[in-house]
Amino acid sequence: MHRFRHWIDGQARDAAGGRWLDVHDPANAQAYAQVAAGDGADVELAVAAAQAAFPAWSALPHSERARWLEALASALETRLEDFAQAESRDAGKPIRLAREAEIPRAVSNLRFFAHAATQFASESHHGQAGLNYTLRAPLGVVATISPWNLPLYLFTWKIAPALAAGNTVVAKPSEVTPATASLLGELAAQIGFPRGVLNIVHGLGPEVGETLVRHPAVRAISFTGSTAVGQRIAGIAAPLLRKVSLELGGKNPTLVFADSDWRANLDTLVRSAFQNSGQICLCGSRLLIERSIYDEVRDALVERAQALKIGEPADEATALGPLVSQAHYDKVLAALERARGEGGRVLCGGHALDRPGWYVAPTVIEGLGPDCASNREEIFGPVVTLQAFDDDAQALALANAGDYGLSASVWTRDLNRAHRLAAQLRVGMVWVNTWLQRDLRTPFGGVGASGLGREGGAEAMRFFTDAKNVGLHL
Ligand code: NAD
Repeated sequence: MHRFRHWIDGQARDAAGGRWLDVHDPANAQAYAQVAAGDGADVELAVAAAQAAFPAWSALPHSERARWLEALASALETRLEDFAQAESRDAGKPIRLAREAEIPRAVSNLRFFAHAATQFASESHHGQAGLNYTLRAPLGVVATISPWNLPLYLFTWKIAPALAAGNTVVAKPSEVTPATASLLGELAAQIGFPRGVLNIVHGLGPEVGETLVRHPAVRAISFTGSTAVGQRIAGIAAPLLRKVSLELGGKNPTLVFADSDWRANLDTLVRSAFQNSGQICLCGSRLLIERSIYDEVRDALVERAQALKIGEPADEATALGPLVSQAHYDKVLAALERARGEGGRVLCGGHALDRPGWYVAPTVIEGLGPDCASNREEIFGPVVTLQAFDDDAQALALANAGDYGLSASVWTRDLNRAHRLAAQLRVGMVWVNTWLQRDLRTPFGGVGASGLGREGGAEAMRFFTDAKNVGLHL
């Protein structure tokens, strides 16, 4: 059975304690590999390697750091198919999604921040207070902790800006999906990436993640994952006065107005609900529909959801694969029970599929109000709820109900309404007549229970640097 090892100081390593965790294939629920179960001793080694590598890496000219990131991007691009296959198996992701969207995006992340390394500029202010300029220095050793839903995509989204800004990194991928991070460690070693600059420690959150968060040499933690773990990390980091960036859960509304071109955009609306089996923090899991078109939209959506091709992740025709793990499958099925208990009418799906693996049928539920747990708590599965609204004010109230505030999409031809709502929606990102269309320069993140801080472009470069202002009297 294949074993995914740590990558510390440019070398593959078993866990110090010699322990392994099983890694499962979500399409058949069988263990297909093992991953090193790290602990504090592995974290110590990785942090020490990162500390030792920091002076040389941070002293490199920006253009050299950019060159290394570009080299890693190019190496990944040449191995794209291998990585797509590995991601598809490890996470139960449809192969086309891995090949056409997620691994290419990992390449783009590395490439984008290679450019950012050379483009990130100091600010200066000239005026009554003389001349002020702001130096931006890398922090030192930083930790990144990432989830299982978009494994390499989110892993690279964090390590790339951290490295571009001159930090050295200890990265902890999800123990549920360790494959592609491990392959990237191997790739970095193959191209001679400077040792100790990127270290990867596998293992459980409380054992590896939390030890990293507490480690005195770790200057910042960039975390993406659940709100509960984000809150725990914030609680540990706050008294240590450690910088944190927290990208957490979502319960995102999709607002469909009667004047929108919803029929022509049904594909995107369906994708926004069900892509990656709904396991994307940006998925629109609450569909809010203007009452005059409610029945039509509902029927069209149910028809499309039922037509989604469910199958083996490796099958080119598969649109919807399994959920990622037994624990997550149990959680989603429990949420479906809860929705029924709350009085929800299940229009399609609502059950597991009678086949091996963690498959849940695409599910559309109506009849639940904004106060139900089903509309307030993240389900993170192929489940969308429908609610009707009568006017803009009601649409906004429904959209803003609940604690999460990650993203929203608004579908209307009325530009004034779109801009008015965009300003009033309590979220970090709004899409108008589109969904998940990302410009990597823009701020990425949420408000409320969806997190703290922003990633993306200059925001990420600022997070991974300390500012020092220098003022001169002229
Ligand atoms: P999770 O919080 O269980 O785990 C995320 C990572 O944190 C994993 O690597 C895990 O091992 C680690 N971890 C767990 N306990 C820890 C602890 N006590 N200390 C430190 N690290 C710990 O999340 P998940 O189930 O892997 O991912 C799904 C969640 O991620 C969903 O809630 C989803 O909305 C969220 N997410 C958010 C974004 C975003 O950008 N806002 C993007 C993707 C996913």
